[in-house]
Amino acid sequence: MEVRAKKALGQHFLVDQGVAKAIVDALGADSPVRDVLEIGPGMGVLTQYLLPREDIDLRLVEIDPESVGYLLTHFAGMQGKLVEGDYLRLNMARFFPGPYRIIGNFPYNISSQIFFKILEDKDRVPEVVCMIQKEVADRIAEGPGSKVYGILSVLLQAWYDIEFLFSVKPGAFAPPPKVNSAVIRLRRNGREALGCDEKLFKTVVKTAFNQRRKTLRNALKPLLPDGFDASAPVFDLRAERLGVDDFVSLTNLLSA
Ligand code: SAH
Repeated sequence: MEVRAKKALGQHFLVDQGVAKAIVDALGADSPVRDVLEIGPGMGVLTQYLLPREDIDLRLVEIDPESVGYLLTHFAGMQGKLVEGDYLRLNMARFFPGPYRIIGNFPYNISSQIFFKILEDKDRVPEVVCMIQKEVADRIAEGPGSKVYGILSVLLQAWYDIEFLFSVKPGAFAPPPKVNSAVIRLRRNGREALGCDEKLFKTVVKTAFNQRRKTLRNALKPLLPDGFDASAPVFDLRAERLGVDDFVSLTNLLSA
Protein backbone atom coordinates (compact mmCIF):
# COMPACT_ATOMS: atom_id res chain seq x y z
CA MET A 1 0.00 0.00 0.00
CA GLU A 2 1.22 3.43 -0.94
CA VAL A 3 0.94 6.52 1.22
CA ARG A 4 -2.05 8.72 0.38
CA ALA A 5 -0.70 12.19 -0.50
CA LYS A 6 -1.79 14.82 2.01
CA LYS A 7 -1.76 18.37 0.74
CA ALA A 8 -1.51 19.94 4.17
CA LEU A 9 1.83 18.19 4.68
CA GLY A 10 3.20 19.36 1.33
CA GLN A 11 3.29 15.79 0.10
CA HIS A 12 4.28 15.45 -3.55
CA PHE A 13 6.16 12.21 -3.92
CA LEU A 14 9.08 12.20 -6.32
CA VAL A 15 8.70 9.27 -8.69
CA ASP A 16 11.48 9.99 -11.20
CA GLN A 17 14.32 7.70 -10.12
CA GLY A 18 16.92 9.55 -12.16
CA VAL A 19 16.15 12.78 -10.34
CA ALA A 20 16.21 11.00 -6.97
CA LYS A 21 19.67 9.57 -7.71
CA ALA A 22 20.97 12.95 -8.88
CA ILE A 23 19.81 14.58 -5.63
CA VAL A 24 21.51 11.96 -3.48
CA ASP A 25 24.68 12.20 -5.61
CA ALA A 26 24.73 15.95 -5.01
CA LEU A 27 25.44 15.34 -1.32
CA GLY A 28 29.22 15.56 -1.23
CA ALA A 29 31.06 12.24 -0.98
CA ASP A 30 34.25 13.65 0.51
CA SER A 31 32.87 15.28 3.64
CA PRO A 32 34.34 14.46 7.05
CA VAL A 33 30.83 14.89 8.49
CA ARG A 34 29.12 11.50 8.53
CA ASP A 35 25.89 12.44 10.27
CA VAL A 36 23.13 13.26 7.80
CA LEU A 37 19.51 14.18 8.47
CA GLU A 38 16.85 13.53 5.86
CA ILE A 39 13.85 15.81 6.36
CA GLY A 40 10.51 14.37 5.20
CA PRO A 41 11.47 11.04 3.61
CA GLY A 42 7.87 10.24 2.66
CA MET A 43 7.98 6.88 0.91
CA GLY A 44 11.75 6.85 0.83
CA VAL A 45 12.58 7.70 -2.77
CA LEU A 46 15.78 9.44 -1.61
CA THR A 47 16.24 7.16 1.39
CA GLN A 48 16.71 4.10 -0.82
CA TYR A 49 19.83 5.69 -2.34
CA LEU A 50 21.06 7.18 0.93
CA LEU A 51 20.96 3.99 3.01
CA PRO A 52 23.61 2.10 0.97
CA ARG A 53 26.09 4.98 1.18
CA GLU A 54 28.95 3.98 3.40
CA ASP A 55 30.23 7.52 3.88
CA ILE A 56 27.19 8.65 5.88
CA ASP A 57 25.17 7.78 8.98
CA LEU A 58 21.58 8.58 8.13
CA ARG A 59 18.80 9.68 10.45
CA LEU A 60 15.36 10.75 9.34
CA VAL A 61 12.49 12.87 10.62
CA GLU A 62 9.02 12.47 9.16
CA ILE A 63 5.86 14.07 10.51
CA ASP A 64 3.33 11.81 8.81
CA PRO A 65 2.49 8.61 10.74
CA GLU A 66 1.37 6.88 7.55
CA SER A 67 4.72 7.55 5.86
CA VAL A 68 6.52 6.40 9.01
CA GLY A 69 4.56 3.14 8.91
CA TYR A 70 5.45 2.71 5.24
CA LEU A 71 9.16 3.31 5.81
CA LEU A 72 9.29 0.91 8.75
CA THR A 73 7.79 -1.92 6.72
CA HIS A 74 9.66 -1.26 3.46
CA PHE A 75 13.18 -0.55 4.66
CA ALA A 76 15.35 -2.67 6.93
CA GLY A 77 17.23 -0.93 9.72
CA MET A 78 14.86 2.02 10.10
CA GLN A 79 14.30 1.38 13.78
CA GLY A 80 16.31 3.84 15.83
CA LYS A 81 17.08 6.02 12.78
CA LEU A 82 13.63 7.27 11.94
CA VAL A 83 11.88 9.74 14.22
CA GLU A 84 8.21 10.50 13.85
CA GLY A 85 7.92 14.22 14.45
CA ASP A 86 8.10 17.79 13.24
CA TYR A 87 11.57 18.90 12.13
CA LEU A 88 10.68 22.48 13.07
CA ARG A 89 10.24 21.38 16.69
CA LEU A 90 13.18 19.04 16.86
CA ASN A 91 15.80 19.82 19.48
CA MET A 92 18.87 19.54 17.24
CA ALA A 93 21.35 19.81 20.12
CA ARG A 94 19.87 16.64 21.53
CA PHE A 95 19.47 14.93 18.16
CA PHE A 96 23.07 15.21 16.97
CA PRO A 97 26.01 15.81 19.30
CA GLY A 98 28.20 17.30 16.57
CA PRO A 99 27.99 18.60 13.00
CA TYR A 100 25.49 17.09 10.58
CA ARG A 101 24.41 17.60 6.97
CA ILE A 102 20.85 17.91 5.71
CA ILE A 103 19.12 16.47 2.67
CA GLY A 104 15.50 16.35 1.63
CA ASN A 105 12.73 17.13 -0.74
CA PHE A 106 11.37 19.76 1.56
CA PRO A 107 7.65 20.30 2.13
CA TYR A 108 7.27 23.50 0.07
CA ASN A 109 4.75 25.08 2.41
CA ILE A 110 7.34 25.34 5.19
CA SER A 111 10.62 25.64 3.26
CA SER A 112 11.35 29.17 4.52
CA GLN A 113 10.83 28.06 8.12
CA ILE A 114 13.17 25.15 7.50
CA PHE A 115 15.89 27.52 6.26
CA PHE A 116 15.46 29.81 9.26
CA LYS A 117 15.89 26.81 11.53
CA ILE A 118 18.99 25.68 9.63
CA LEU A 119 20.41 29.19 10.09
CA GLU A 120 19.92 28.88 13.85
CA ASP A 121 22.31 25.92 13.77
CA LYS A 122 24.54 27.12 10.90
CA ASP A 123 27.81 26.39 12.64
CA ARG A 124 26.94 22.70 12.83
CA VAL A 125 25.46 22.37 9.32
CA PRO A 126 28.18 22.46 6.64
CA GLU A 127 26.03 21.25 3.74
CA VAL A 128 22.38 21.17 2.67
CA VAL A 129 21.04 19.54 -0.49
CA CYS A 130 17.36 20.10 -1.03
CA MET A 131 14.57 20.30 -3.53
CA ILE A 132 12.27 23.28 -3.11
CA GLN A 133 9.89 25.34 -5.18
CA LYS A 134 11.88 26.79 -8.10
CA GLU A 135 10.77 30.32 -7.28
CA VAL A 136 12.22 30.01 -3.78
CA ALA A 137 15.42 28.46 -5.18
CA ASP A 138 15.82 31.42 -7.55
CA ARG A 139 15.29 33.82 -4.70
CA ILE A 140 17.86 32.15 -2.49
CA ALA A 141 20.48 31.84 -5.20
CA GLU A 142 20.10 35.32 -6.76
CA GLY A 143 22.28 38.26 -5.91
CA PRO A 144 21.50 41.95 -5.45
CA GLY A 145 19.65 43.68 -8.26
CA SER A 146 17.27 40.79 -8.86
CA LYS A 147 13.59 41.34 -8.24
CA VAL A 148 13.31 38.12 -6.28
CA TYR A 149 16.31 38.83 -4.04
CA GLY A 150 15.11 39.03 -0.45
CA ILE A 151 15.53 38.33 3.26
CA LEU A 152 16.41 34.66 2.92
CA SER A 153 18.85 35.38 0.09
CA VAL A 154 20.88 37.75 2.25
CA LEU A 155 20.71 35.73 5.46
CA LEU A 156 21.65 32.46 3.72
CA GLN A 157 24.30 34.03 1.46
CA ALA A 158 25.93 35.53 4.54
CA TRP A 159 26.86 32.05 5.72
CA TYR A 160 26.52 29.71 2.74
CA ASP A 161 27.75 29.41 -0.83
CA ILE A 162 24.65 28.55 -2.82
CA GLU A 163 24.55 26.51 -6.01
CA PHE A 164 21.49 26.15 -8.18
CA LEU A 165 21.92 22.56 -9.44
CA PHE A 166 18.95 21.79 -11.70
CA SER A 167 15.23 22.29 -12.09
CA VAL A 168 12.58 19.58 -12.00
CA LYS A 169 9.24 19.58 -13.82
CA PRO A 170 5.94 18.81 -12.08
CA GLY A 171 5.66 15.53 -14.02
CA ALA A 172 8.45 14.01 -11.93
CA PHE A 173 6.07 13.86 -8.94
CA ALA A 174 2.87 12.14 -7.93
CA PRO A 175 0.68 14.04 -7.52
CA PRO A 176 2.34 16.77 -9.63
CA PRO A 177 2.71 20.12 -7.82
CA LYS A 178 1.39 23.28 -9.48
CA VAL A 179 4.86 24.82 -9.53
CA ASN A 180 8.28 23.99 -10.92
CA SER A 181 10.88 22.67 -8.53
CA ALA A 182 14.62 23.00 -8.24
CA VAL A 183 17.49 21.39 -6.40
CA ILE A 184 20.04 23.58 -4.67
CA ARG A 185 23.13 22.93 -2.61
CA LEU A 186 24.29 25.10 0.25
CA ARG A 187 27.81 24.83 1.56
CA ARG A 188 29.00 26.73 4.55
CA ASN A 189 31.41 29.48 3.51
CA GLY A 190 34.48 30.20 5.60
CA ARG A 191 32.89 33.09 7.46
CA GLU A 192 33.01 32.80 11.24
CA ALA A 193 31.63 36.21 12.08
CA LEU A 194 30.03 39.01 10.10
CA GLY A 195 31.99 41.85 11.64
CA CYS A 196 28.92 43.60 12.96
CA ASP A 197 26.18 43.14 15.56
CA GLU A 198 24.63 39.99 14.06
CA LYS A 199 21.28 40.37 15.78
CA LEU A 200 20.95 43.92 14.49
CA PHE A 201 22.08 42.70 11.04
CA LYS A 202 19.08 40.35 10.90
CA THR A 203 16.75 43.10 12.03
CA VAL A 204 18.17 45.52 9.46
CA VAL A 205 17.79 42.98 6.63
CA LYS A 206 14.22 42.10 7.62
CA THR A 207 13.16 45.71 8.13
CA ALA A 208 14.74 46.85 4.87
CA PHE A 209 13.03 44.17 2.78
CA ASN A 210 9.69 44.39 4.52
CA GLN A 211 9.33 47.77 2.83
CA ARG A 212 11.43 46.91 -0.17
CA ARG A 213 9.99 49.64 -2.41
CA LYS A 214 11.07 52.38 -0.05
CA THR A 215 14.55 53.83 0.13
CA LEU A 216 16.56 52.59 3.07
CA ARG A 217 16.24 56.04 4.63
CA ASN A 218 12.48 55.53 4.91
CA ALA A 219 12.34 51.77 5.35
CA LEU A 220 14.83 51.83 8.24
CA LYS A 221 13.36 54.86 9.99
CA PRO A 222 12.19 52.84 13.01
CA LEU A 223 15.77 51.60 13.54
CA LEU A 224 17.63 54.89 13.22
CA PRO A 225 19.00 56.17 16.53
CA ASP A 226 17.74 59.62 17.65
CA GLY A 227 19.42 62.41 15.73
CA PHE A 228 21.00 59.93 13.31
CA ASP A 229 22.37 61.53 10.15
CA ALA A 230 21.07 59.40 7.29
CA SER A 231 22.55 61.55 4.54
CA ALA A 232 25.05 58.93 3.36
CA PRO A 233 24.34 57.87 -0.25
CA VAL A 234 23.60 54.28 0.80
CA PHE A 235 20.32 55.49 2.34
CA ASP A 236 19.10 56.55 -1.11
CA LEU A 237 19.11 52.90 -2.20
CA ARG A 238 16.54 50.17 -1.81
CA ALA A 239 17.25 46.91 0.02
CA GLU A 240 17.42 44.89 -3.17
CA ARG A 241 20.58 46.72 -4.24
CA LEU A 242 22.66 45.67 -1.22
CA GLY A 243 24.82 42.59 -0.94
CA VAL A 244 25.79 40.90 2.32
CA ASP A 245 28.84 43.11 2.84
CA ASP A 246 26.78 46.25 2.21
CA PHE A 247 24.30 45.15 4.88
CA VAL A 248 27.21 44.56 7.26
CA SER A 249 28.50 48.11 6.66
CA LEU A 250 25.01 49.49 7.03
CA THR A 251 24.55 47.65 10.34
CA ASN A 252 27.83 49.13 11.56
CA LEU A 253 26.68 52.62 10.55
CA LEU A 254 23.52 52.16 12.62
CA SER A 255 25.31 50.90 15.71
CA ALA A 256 28.21 53.37 15.64
N1 SAH B 1 11.05 12.82 0.26
C1 SAH B 1 9.78 12.38 -0.30
C2 SAH B 1 8.59 13.23 0.19
C3 SAH B 1 8.63 14.67 -0.17
S1 SAH B 1 7.12 15.50 0.25
C4 SAH B 1 9.85 12.39 -1.80
O1 SAH B 1 10.77 13.00 -2.33
O2 SAH B 1 8.99 11.81 -2.44
C5 SAH B 1 7.54 16.27 1.80
C6 SAH B 1 7.62 15.28 2.96
O3 SAH B 1 7.85 16.02 4.15
C7 SAH B 1 6.33 14.51 3.22
O4 SAH B 1 6.63 13.15 3.42
C8 SAH B 1 5.75 15.14 4.49
O5 SAH B 1 4.97 14.25 5.26
C9 SAH B 1 7.01 15.56 5.21
N2 SAH B 1 6.83 16.68 6.15
C10 SAH B 1 5.98 17.72 6.04
N3 SAH B 1 6.14 18.58 7.07
C11 SAH B 1 7.12 18.05 7.86
C12 SAH B 1 7.75 18.48 9.08
N4 SAH B 1 7.39 19.62 9.68
N5 SAH B 1 8.71 17.71 9.62
C13 SAH B 1 9.08 16.55 9.01
N6 SAH B 1 8.53 16.09 7.85
C14 SAH B 1 7.56 16.85 7.29
